[in-house]
Amino acid sequence: MATHHTKMLIIGSGPAGYSAAIYGARAMLEPIVVQGLQPGGQLTITTDVENYPGFADVIQGPWLMEQMQAQAEHVGTRMMWDTIVEVDLDGGPPFRAIGDSGDEYIGDTLVICTGAQAKWLGVPGEQELGGKGVSACATCDGFFYRGKKVAVIGGGNTAVEEALYLTNHSDDVTLIHRRDELRSEKILQERLFKNPKISTLWNKTVESFAAGEDGTLGHIVLRDTVSGEVSTLEVDGAFVAIGHAPATELFKGKLPLDGGGYLLTEPGSPKTEIPGVFAAGDVTDHTYRQAVTAAGMGCMAALDAERFLAARED
Ligand code: NDP
Repeated sequence: MATHHTKMLIIGSGPAGYSAAIYGARAMLEPIVVQGLQPGGQLTITTDVENYPGFADVIQGPWLMEQMQAQAEHVGTRMMWDTIVEVDLDGGPPFRAIGDSGDEYIGDTLVICTGAQAKWLGVPGEQELGGKGVSACATCDGFFYRGKKVAVIGGGNTAVEEALYLTNHSDDVTLIHRRDELRSEKILQERLFKNPKISTLWNKTVESFAAGEDGTLGHIVLRDTVSGEVSTLEVDGAFVAIGHAPATELFKGKLPLDGGGYLLTEPGSPKTEIPGVFAAGDVTDHTYRQAVTAAGMGCMAALDAERFLAARED
């Protein structure tokens, strides 16, 4: 077990964390990034990215994150393959964090970029059939349903993108939504409605997931929100795509959170209530939630951390 001291401790390794690291390293703050359970974050479980500026051709999410990590390392960031399990913000700076490895991290500033994770429906069968037909990531698990019948639950961008992606593997994709109109961007809706492999079920909520004879997912029990009628849909795979929850468990009672559990910062700034502690990316942003906005916020957090440290030295 070791103790690592840095001028800038960054928790999380998505676009926000890596961008904060790139700026922090170039400001000679010798940042440490504690990467967490999913190094690279949510983009590592997507495929095509066509809205990150600077790339005229479609790029892959995992590739983009490899590039960001390499860039952060090239300018002097230390990457730690560890997951923070406890933070102590009392009386800081410096701030203290403990890793799953038992290592201790001390940061003169702390930049929180822990991101967000997929939400689950919380209905019977969902947890039991996790990995046996029920998933929250089509790009990770879609391949297993080659030539099979699948469904996606949700009506946002993620749900529509997952449905479209699944048509690479399956000719029979059903999108199940609890209302009669989608929340997703119009361009994605157009692609969805034009795709002959995708059908839609409107005004349906999932009551439960049920196993078939082989113990894997057999069918979904649905309820019509208008008529109350209960029906079943036979599927081999179901992908829950109903949004994300911010990863703020570590900070409950230590930093103010909003009603959705997102870290609160000063409006238009990554500054939290505690001087020297900053938050950037999806952990604090329920509005934009884009790789490019997360990267921008990571940059802002690093610049503010640099100014904070400079002001203390004066
Ligand atoms: P959203 O919050 O946008 O959408 C969640 C969807 O799930 C909504 O349609 C919602 O229904 C539905 N839902 C929520 N809870 C339940 C529930 N308990 N039961 C049934 N349905 C439920 O999440 P996304 O993950 O789709 O997107 C998050 C953000 O990321 C958005 O800002 C999105 O634009 C962005 N994004 C952008 C992408 C891109 O630009 N390429 C790709 C993916 C995401 P209802 O509509 O009724 O509220």
